[in-house]
Amino acid sequence: MTHKILIINGDGIGPEIIAEAHKVLAVVNEKHQLGLEFDHALLGGEAIDATGKPFPDETLAKSKEADAILFGAVGGPKWDKIDSAIRPEKGLLAIRSNLGLFANLRPAILYPQLADASSLKPEVVSGLDILIVRELTGGIYFGQPRGIRTLENGEREGFNTYVYRESEINRIGKVAFDMAMKRGKKVCSVDKSNVLEVTELWRERMEEVANDYPEAELSHMYVDNAAMQLVREPKQFDVIVTGNMFGDILSDQASMLTGSIGMLPSASLDESGKGLYEPCHGSAPDIAGQNKANPLATILSAAMMLRYSLNLGEVADEIEQAVSLVLDEGYRTVDILTDGCREVGTLEMGDLVAGQLK
Ligand code: NAD
Repeated sequence: MTHKILIINGDGIGPEIIAEAHKVLAVVNEKHQLGLEFDHALLGGEAIDATGKPFPDETLAKSKEADAILFGAVGGPKWDKIDSAIRPEKGLLAIRSNLGLFANLRPAILYPQLADASSLKPEVVSGLDILIVRELTGGIYFGQPRGIRTLENGEREGFNTYVYRESEINRIGKVAFDMAMKRGKKVCSVDKSNVLEVTELWRERMEEVANDYPEAELSHMYVDNAAMQLVREPKQFDVIVTGNMFGDILSDQASMLTGSIGMLPSASLDESGKGLYEPCHGSAPDIAGQNKANPLATILSAAMMLRYSLNLGEVADEIEQAVSLVLDEGYRTVDILTDGCREVGTLEMGDLVAGQLK
């Protein structure tokens, strides 16, 4: 059996971090005869330079054919002044919408070795392991009508529409419960059902979806309370499921509990489980080409790819374990460097993880 992996470097530090994740995948591919086959495509600034478009047709065709996509990041000052319709970031939005990637998974995991890097007390965050499941293609960011209109008295008003269909709520709920069943079997659904009817329906549908998962526990929390609980006692959560806007905000908040953006992977999945896997950070043009970028978020994204799109959870566990062992040995890229640790570059960090796996 073969698995087609499409690799997209992107811009800035993209090629450097992807090279290390590719290195790690090549090792597990060889070791376990996984049948991974790699292809490459362009997106973002590199695609604009080569083809004039941030999301070339060839990339669309290859991404439809692939079983999973591993992606670095796009953007940079070189393309900041070009027409906003063809900016690098448009390429990323286009690939997400063309592939119907409606489920965004963002784990916030704090390796105990990095507890000092968080802004919260080590005992509050050490061992933190939350998965935020955010609906990515609906809700108030996409609802119609929307716009800014002028009223009869000449005053202008801005308006958006917060809308979710039952089918959209059901499918994201199912993803959250499926994920929870592979973890701590707890789902906390975050809404604002005391004020917003759309989330009243959200809450009702989540109850319905939960009936299909008798072993899992469902709780509900208003979004304002969830924001507070995330900093008060974040370890109470296992899987959080929420809509597009609340998820946008809460996932950024949760990611900062872990202290470093260079450690955080993410996945965006379609209905069949096919996905795009990428680090949460951007293309970091300030450190591009200097062998300074932390490749671990991308390596951990590759592990998520094996687990969620290719059903190779044990190999994903092995990669995550290798990352943990490298951190145990005190190796750190500069973004996670603390006293008494040994600084290494992007390339060396990739070699160390690959070395553990061999
Ligand atoms: P950024 O995440 O690229 O960088 C923020 C800070 O974090 C920088 O100081 C950077 O050096 C550091 N950083 C980021 N990743 C790191 C890593 N792996 N190791 C060590 N340090 C790391 O965000 P930004 O500076 O706001 O954006 C830079 C460019 O990236 C912009 O063009 C933006 O549009 C783009 N961007 C792309 C994505 C994406 O492709 N998904 C996401 C966010 C931003």
